[in-house]
Amino acid sequence: MDLKALSEFGLIDRIRKQARSRSPRVRAGIGDDCAVILNAGGELKLITTDLLIQDVHFRLNFCHPVSLGKKALAISVSDIAAMGGQPEFYLALLACPASTDVSLLDSLYAGMEAVAEDYDITLVGGDTSKAPIILVGTLLMGRAKEDKVVYRCGAKQGDRIYVTGTLGDAAFGLELLSKAMAGASGPVCWKEIKERVVSIYSPAALDLVNRQLAPTPRLKEGHDLAGGGIPSAMIDISDGLLADLNHICEESKVGARIDLSALPSSDPFRALAAALPDGGSSFMLAGGEEYELLFTVPEEREALLQGLGSAGEFHKIGEITDQVGRVRVLDQSGEEVKFAKMGYDHFGGKG
Ligand code: ADP
Ligand code: MG
Repeated sequence: MDLKALSEFGLIDRIRKQARSRSPRVRAGIGDDCAVILNAGGELKLITTDLLIQDVHFRLNFCHPVSLGKKALAISVSDIAAMGGQPEFYLALLACPASTDVSLLDSLYAGMEAVAEDYDITLVGGDTSKAPIILVGTLLMGRAKEDKVVYRCGAKQGDRIYVTGTLGDAAFGLELLSKAMAGASGPVCWKEIKERVVSIYSPAALDLVNRQLAPTPRLKEGHDLAGGGIPSAMIDISDGLLADLNHICEESKVGARIDLSALPSSDPFRALAAALPDGGSSFMLAGGEEYELLFTVPEEREALLQGLGSAGEFHKIGEITDQVGRVRVLDQSGEEVKFAKMGYDHFGGKG
């Protein structure tokens, strides 16, 4: 069997079955946004790692090196946010050809350090190697309180499903970006991206492109939600709403119903998606790299959301059901809508 038939998540499942935990201190291993390890004194250590590979995750003619660095660290911060934790230290992994311009690497680290500054994270090491293409990885460590950490596995039937922010922006932004930058030779600068996107589309398109290039992790929201003991389960949307909701459902052994008309979208998204055949719904349902938080809330804790400063940013989009492993999308009249694609799968398999 090849990886295409197995799928990315099939592979991770296979690795998970092969690996045995040899420590009673592991609170969450493979299968959540971060590994969660119990430290002495009852504090939890959170660890997450992410990898960005040239021509797979980024193209030098689509993105500028500062945004690449920002994204490399921001997506790991997003995993810490999804557990309700606080990031602290990171290590950076870098591989590139010997011909790489040093100024590109300076910009890459300037991007990572800008995000590190925003979230008070310190670079404490890494590793460097020669490679035929550029590869940037981060390993981020953080902490959380044992009674506050939120896993993917706590959703129960009847819990309401919420997301932060808006959906589809980053995936739509990638499509706009790839069309606008086709033919450009990298590395490009932000000015060039801006000029091309605005001249081909509109200034509004730049907002979507920016969501793709430099996502904002919802660290404060994750921290506030977890601190208030509100979510029963939480994940960040990296693979796509349906795929990530499916991860919550699998880990929690429940199903879910999503109301298509309740999905939140941004003004620029609506303005540009009006011309798409499906009005942009496939971007909202299956678009990856949103880095919004997707979480479930028991009915009796819903009112607590109002007490959080960022309440306007939380949108109710559906409900957890007892149909184990089934994620259904309903339109305004309650009819089930079928979608060919759940989200992003690295090996193009069934996911
Ligand atoms: P995320 O999108 O939140 O970064 P992933 O989909 O990459 O999560 O991974 C899901 C889970 O599988 C995580 O717990 C991650 O640590 C684990 N995982 C991913 N790839 C591997 C691997 N090659 N070996 C072991 N565990 C892995
Ligand atoms: Mg995640």
